[in-house]
Amino acid sequence: MITTPLSLFDTRTRTLMPVTINNEKCARIYSCGPTVYRDAHVGNLRTFLLSDLIVRTLAYAGFTSTLIQNITDVGHMSEDLHEDKLLAESAKRKLDPYAIARDYEDRFHKDLALIGVAPASGYPRASESIQMMQDLIVELIEKNFAYVGEDSSVYFAAQTFPTYGEISGNRLDALQPGHRYEYTDDGAKRFHADWALWKSAGNRTEMVWDSPWGPGFPGWHIECSAMSLHFLEGHVDLHLGGIDLRFPHHENERAQSNAAAGYEVVTQWVHGEHLLFEGRKMSKSAGNVVLVSDIAARGLDPLALRLSFLENRYRSQIDLTWDALTAADSTLSRWRKKLKDWGASTPTQESEATIAALIALLMNDLATADVAIELRQIERDESIPRGVRAHIFRTIDQIFALDLDRAEALVALTPEQSALLSEREAARADKDYARSDELRDQLLALKIAVKDGPGGQSYEVIS
Ligand SMILES: [Zn+2]
Repeated sequence: MITTPLSLFDTRTRTLMPVTINNEKCARIYSCGPTVYRDAHVGNLRTFLLSDLIVRTLAYAGFTSTLIQNITDVGHMSEDLHEDKLLAESAKRKLDPYAIARDYEDRFHKDLALIGVAPASGYPRASESIQMMQDLIVELIEKNFAYVGEDSSVYFAAQTFPTYGEISGNRLDALQPGHRYEYTDDGAKRFHADWALWKSAGNRTEMVWDSPWGPGFPGWHIECSAMSLHFLEGHVDLHLGGIDLRFPHHENERAQSNAAAGYEVVTQWVHGEHLLFEGRKMSKSAGNVVLVSDIAARGLDPLALRLSFLENRYRSQIDLTWDALTAADSTLSRWRKKLKDWGASTPTQESEATIAALIALLMNDLATADVAIELRQIERDESIPRGVRAHIFRTIDQIFALDLDRAEALVALTPEQSALLSEREAARADKDYARSDELRDQLLALKIAVKDGPGGQSYEVIS
């Protein structure tokens, strides 16, 4: 086992822990991925940035990583509906659920690229990992951790796993019957806190698979156990996700994985904090969902979002505002211009010492906010030679990935282009297709090619 210089806060032991690498080759990291029935909003993207930041920081320290991020295209039941979110969306829009899922998956990858997140090593899809999940469920039944209910669904028997609750603090004896899990229907559970590993199809006809227990579909939690055990070969050095996934998702995942493997599968659980936008939690019901495309439509560089995130530590809640994003956008432009003016990097003893101090901040639980403050001071300090400042900025940008050496800013949309795009989106929502076609032609004349997919309108700037 190798101990890396990076320390991160472990949710389960509630301690700052050095990241260790179990197999002496590369860090094995699992990050819970998106549910692809709608676009990832910027709050979701904050979590996905965390995995990128960790991979880049470890890479700087000389360690490679294998990062697996699942694509949930089946199995994630909404908390207060009996419907699958994706199937609900599919019925509403009269589209094939897989077409919707693939379109949103595609948009997810494009959004990640826009905020400088390097691709993971693998993005396994739940719908293509059914056998893997069934094998794990069979194993859990054989080892008496799971049982087949009278409704032909398979349940994990929570009481067979004595350390349930270590991650979230929600111990079984303190959980009240009727607390909300992902299913409101208790089905044929023996104990209120048991959860479905495999759900019997019932009346459902789409996204249903044969199984030893009859036709059905997998629960959400089993997906992450099956994929992490399979793709990371039985051991996870770091398991990442948003703070809201601690319970029940990660608690259930830990029970499933450990029960099957017979040991602690995940060494360290790391969670990213929530994001507020203009003072409120971002949600569809609150009507304040912000997407990367909304940032671009305001003429802001999507990397301004990345910088805004970096100006806060991953473990602190952020209240993001349009003003903060606009300020980050101008910081980015200024840094790019300065870096160009400063010219070539000239490493010196002084610059190496400064860089070492900044890297030490990052290694200490990713203190990106402190590094951002330091960078602003270095930027203004005329006593530091220009080439030295350039060297420091370029080195930190290997981790910050703000594309500071970009020669010119990406073509920002003009106010006219933005207005036409919004107008066209509204026309389509009103089913005014004649107007929407007219607007498409006007946009094309302004070098914006609009495309319509199951996930809505997207565009490309053509040169
Ligand atoms: Zn997960």
